[in-house]
Amino acid sequence: MAVQGLSERDQAVIWHPYTQMKSAPAPVPIVRGEGPYLIAEDGKKYLDAVSSWWVNIHGHAHPYIAEKVSAQLRTLEHAIFAGFTHPVAVDLAEGLLRILPPNQSRIFYSDNGSTAVEVALKMCFQYWSNRGEERTKVLAFRNSYHGDTFGAMAVSARSAFTAPFENLLFGVEYIDTPCPANIAGLKAFIAEHGSSFSSFIYEPLIQGSGGMLMYEAQYLDELIAACREQRIFAIADEVMTGFGRTGKLFASEYLRNQPDIVCLSKGLTGGTMALGVTSCTAEIYEAFLSDDRLKTLFHGHSFTANPVACAAALASLDLTMQPATMENISRIMDSHARFAARIKGHPRLKDVRQTGTIIAFEWETAGDSSYFSSLRDRLYNFFLEAGIILRPLGNIVYILPPYCISNEQLAYVYSKIEQALEEI
Ligand SMILES: *Cc1c(COP(=O)(O)O)cnc(C)c1O
Repeated sequence: MAVQGLSERDQAVIWHPYTQMKSAPAPVPIVRGEGPYLIAEDGKKYLDAVSSWWVNIHGHAHPYIAEKVSAQLRTLEHAIFAGFTHPVAVDLAEGLLRILPPNQSRIFYSDNGSTAVEVALKMCFQYWSNRGEERTKVLAFRNSYHGDTFGAMAVSARSAFTAPFENLLFGVEYIDTPCPANIAGLKAFIAEHGSSFSSFIYEPLIQGSGGMLMYEAQYLDELIAACREQRIFAIADEVMTGFGRTGKLFASEYLRNQPDIVCLSKGLTGGTMALGVTSCTAEIYEAFLSDDRLKTLFHGHSFTANPVACAAALASLDLTMQPATMENISRIMDSHARFAARIKGHPRLKDVRQTGTIIAFEWETAGDSSYFSSLRDRLYNFFLEAGIILRPLGNIVYILPPYCISNEQLAYVYSKIEQALEEI
């Protein structure tokens, strides 16, 4: 019998995320990571220009994170987190509270971005329930994405992804992202209907999965202020935007009005381990302090505050706080801006937009629809062939690189995007 390769063995036993298994090509077998590269079984190197689904902010197999994780594994790999604590969970909570908006006062750990959102929603719903007030609706943006578990899915935009579950999702009021033309209307809506909403959840400045859609801080600031007047809690879903992605540590730093709750994951551990964080204000935390045990936040996961994940997050935080990292972030931002200026107005591009280290190119889709319906796959394959991992969202190609990517590596990605504009 012939020896099977990794791809064939995978195809016999594994069900992949967001993948139509009937028609998907064989997965690329990756055996090693190094800086911005993923290295395949056959030795081919892929430049990871999307930071492996936005998590890998410092590149792959970073020796400093590996060292810290390895030491933690040999010290304490896990401990139950109800009734017990451990040093890295406390160090990480202290470290995060030092850099989060100053009104944040407590850290609740969970497993990923979706669970961080679930916890945020439950904190808000139960805040009102603990006070005996009826506030069960949530305000969210059209085109939003907050995760794939049921609560997170409920507050995400309705789409092909959520369609099979439509009737099972709780009620959410969707509003457009704010702009000069609609801000007055949005504020009027909140003033009129605000008292039924428990919370307002948003991806600050940039809606990732919705297509890297960007909007201005100033109008979000006004919306949060309008919500605050109605005592609607502001939940900043910084799962994608956290840890320098937008040019500041958190996108919320571009705003004057700070969120009541912040959700973190993705870059939190530098892409090393799964971990989620939900931080909240003292006001929210205190609404759960009671002699009535039913007012407890009854939520927890087996791996809550896993020490290895916390150690990875602490190591990643050390790297993030080094001046060299912010210098890399500025360098990527300048580089993107120069490329955007050069390519803007290309006849095949409907739009080029940038927020911090993220740059998005929206391909023109007018004309032959059958040609364009396969555009996404043709672009994906073109870049893969060129040794670059870019996963277009439909007709939107975006670069969301690890901060260690070099100018030469960025220039290579840009040159392939220019080539794709001519050839694909
Ligand atoms: C990815 C993402 C999530 C979900 O995180 P998972 O770890 O994939 O569950 C939530 N919110 C935003 C803004 C995201 O980008």
